[in-house]
Amino acid sequence: MTFLNGIAASNGIAIAKAYLLVEPDLSFDKKTIEDTSAEVERYQQAIEKAKSELEAIRDRAKVDLGPDKAAIFDAHLLVLSDPELNNPIEDKIKTENVNAESALKETADMFVTMFEQMDNEYMKERAADIRDVTKRVLSHLLNVQLPNPSMIAEEVIIVAEDLTPSDTAQLNRKFVKGFTTNIGGRTSHSAIMARSLEIPAVVGTKTAVEEINNGDLVIVDGLKGEVHINPTPELVEQYRKIHQDYENQKAEWAKLVNEATVSKDGHHVELAANIGTPNDLNGVKANGGEGVGLYRTEFLYMGREQLPTEDEQFDAYKAVLEGMDGKSVVVRTLDIGGDKELPYLDLPKEMNPFLGFRAIRLCLEQQDIFRTQLRALLRASTFGNLKIMFPMIATLDEFRSAKAILEEEKQKLLSEGQKVADKIELGIMVEIPSTAVLADQFAKEVDFFSIGTNDLIQYTMAADRMNQRVSYLYQPYSPSILRLVKMVIDAAHAEGKWAGMCGEMAGDETAVPVLLGLGLDEFSMSATSILKARSLIKNLNKSDMENLAAEVINMQTTSQVVDAVNKAIQ
Ligand code: PEP
Ligand code: MG
Repeated sequence: MTFLNGIAASNGIAIAKAYLLVEPDLSFDKKTIEDTSAEVERYQQAIEKAKSELEAIRDRAKVDLGPDKAAIFDAHLLVLSDPELNNPIEDKIKTENVNAESALKETADMFVTMFEQMDNEYMKERAADIRDVTKRVLSHLLNVQLPNPSMIAEEVIIVAEDLTPSDTAQLNRKFVKGFTTNIGGRTSHSAIMARSLEIPAVVGTKTAVEEINNGDLVIVDGLKGEVHINPTPELVEQYRKIHQDYENQKAEWAKLVNEATVSKDGHHVELAANIGTPNDLNGVKANGGEGVGLYRTEFLYMGREQLPTEDEQFDAYKAVLEGMDGKSVVVRTLDIGGDKELPYLDLPKEMNPFLGFRAIRLCLEQQDIFRTQLRALLRASTFGNLKIMFPMIATLDEFRSAKAILEEEKQKLLSEGQKVADKIELGIMVEIPSTAVLADQFAKEVDFFSIGTNDLIQYTMAADRMNQRVSYLYQPYSPSILRLVKMVIDAAHAEGKWAGMCGEMAGDETAVPVLLGLGLDEFSMSATSILKARSLIKNLNKSDMENLAAEVINMQTTSQVVDAVNKAIQ
């Protein structure tokens, strides 16, 4: 039995067999072949095996993920049957007496280089298809199994180096019971997705991929951040009990689903949910969300091959607004970049993507993308209580430019005779320290702030939110972070505006008492954290928490803050 420590990224316990989602070793040696006809036949057999494998994957993807996601596999099947690729490979085996692996790789590499150099998006995509197909055929030539997550048909725990947000979005909730990764932190987007899908997860274990083999029994303890590999039957039994206790605890919290969030001394705060797609609304309702405090619209743009149209976006925004029945819905405009990539935008690779051309910076330059989104939002605005916020605002000029573009699109729509809500509150994410420091000036012009601590912490501490080696610095309870949060809340209140928080800190048990004391108005978090936070706030006196906040803001270290909070909420 082996044990790994990591970061508890999504609550709950999962016990199942491991499924490794890792790149297999497809290396080979170039060899001289005597019997070239037998080698050509071996190549053709590998092609046939790859075809039937791809057909099965495509059929499964059609059912589980829909026809548009399955279409990519049709494209791969076409490449597999293409004589323009296969003939030169077979010729190479015959005329150069080389093994099938090297004939395939050398020919495919030549086509990939050729297509990639073309100034045409369609051809560039073909290069990606050829690369994928080559990998699959090579795996059959080498008798190595490629991971096929869409073919999973039994309960598993996914083990990976890292999961991209789009990998996570494609996990089938029915079979994927949990996941664990080598890298990542509590606020990496795979962790955020895991919470919204309610899949227990432990990230940042450093060595899960090396320590765990396919088929090992694994326990993912998303409450403590532990992973147990091939546990003893006694430990499995203990964990079944912990799982049951956790389910019972959740049933207790569930009784608060229709209650308002009011402290013992009668102060009301709003507990809202962070969502990524209209589907997440079920979780918001099941967990008693009082609104949507952050709709991360970038998921609409991911896992596809081109930008979503204005109408596609309109449908999604309208669905969320209607689904929330007039409750507040804060939609964040496109926040792409960092760990959220859009391959089809074909942006140059950057040295520091988290500090680069992303979010509002990209939207203000590529205005066609931004304007399409704003039009969709404005058109949807009459279907509920829409608030719009811009991500990664660093200067007042950026806010003013974004606001002016929104106003222009509004006027255009009105002149076209379209309906737009009279009043749409307009706010910003405060996730860059410069904005927190200048919050008093921003507060004069915005309608609200939403503090994005996931990024604010990483930029303030200069500690990558994805990197577990610097996670000791990435601490929401650092007095420096608390001071910035206080500045933002005070600045909003001084101008009669409201301040929310949509970073993961808003649902953190240790942070919530301090945030209540600092006067935060709206706490937006993963839906699954709402009921626990409500139960906590109902047991606190706001006036006591004000004293606690005043005390911790003047402390020197994170551990002093944690101790003071623990003492205060005992
Ligand atoms: C944040 O930075 O706190 C935030 C909510 O945005 P994201 O996690 O999407 O960067
Ligand atoms: Mg952010």
